[in-house]
Amino acid sequence: MDLTVLGCATPYPRPGQPCSGYLVSESDTHLVLDCGSGTFAALQTHLAPGQVTALWISHLHPDHSADLLAWSNWALNTQNAPRIPVYGPPGWARRLDQMLTDDSALVDGIFEVHELRDHHTVAHGPLTLTARVVEHSVPGFGVRVESPTARLAYSGDTEPCPALVDLARDVDLFVCEAGTASPSRFHTTREQAVHTAIAAGAKQLLLTHLASALDPDALTTAPGLATTVAEPGWQWSSGQRG
Ligand SMILES: [Zn+2]
Repeated sequence: MDLTVLGCATPYPRPGQPCSGYLVSESDTHLVLDCGSGTFAALQTHLAPGQVTALWISHLHPDHSADLLAWSNWALNTQNAPRIPVYGPPGWARRLDQMLTDDSALVDGIFEVHELRDHHTVAHGPLTLTARVVEHSVPGFGVRVESPTARLAYSGDTEPCPALVDLARDVDLFVCEAGTASPSRFHTTREQAVHTAIAAGAKQLLLTHLASALDPDALTTAPGLATTVAEPGWQWSSGQRG
């Protein structure tokens, strides 16, 4: 299993710094976790959009979902575009329809629409995706991705919660947001991310979506836990742990 960071900026993109998006690949299966502003362009430095086999959206804040508009315009303007499955929070397709058009069925025509719920599990190629409700200011989900070769978890946006520990249990890579500099509702600090990773037995932690007040070079570490700060283009392969 491979993961590529498409972007991790919050709460809006900057030059060369798209918002949240992660490409997870295993053989010919290519899953995009979140498509925040700027990620659709970043994706194309790695893959053609038509090679992506599914999108998974944690919540509907623009820094995690705004490029659904770019994906839609690509699908609407590409002959024989595949009808890509999209997994997202309840109501995501209706919200996107309202942004795109008065046609309330447009999104159903260009994407395979799926709505997440707590413990939602789906097999996608060699990957099994399990969603859990997490604690954010809008309905939000984290995800665990398992394959025969590896396990990873992605927090979405959330404050620390038991579901996050469940998602990250014994994973090879835990991609966890650190969207707040000090403990607060709806986001996680770097220290809390490390604490969650240790509680879950994660082997490696990727701190992402760092609050702008945080110095990305002032890394929070813990003995026995490989910890890295995300940046666009950062890549991980389950064959190269640590
Ligand atoms: Zn958010």
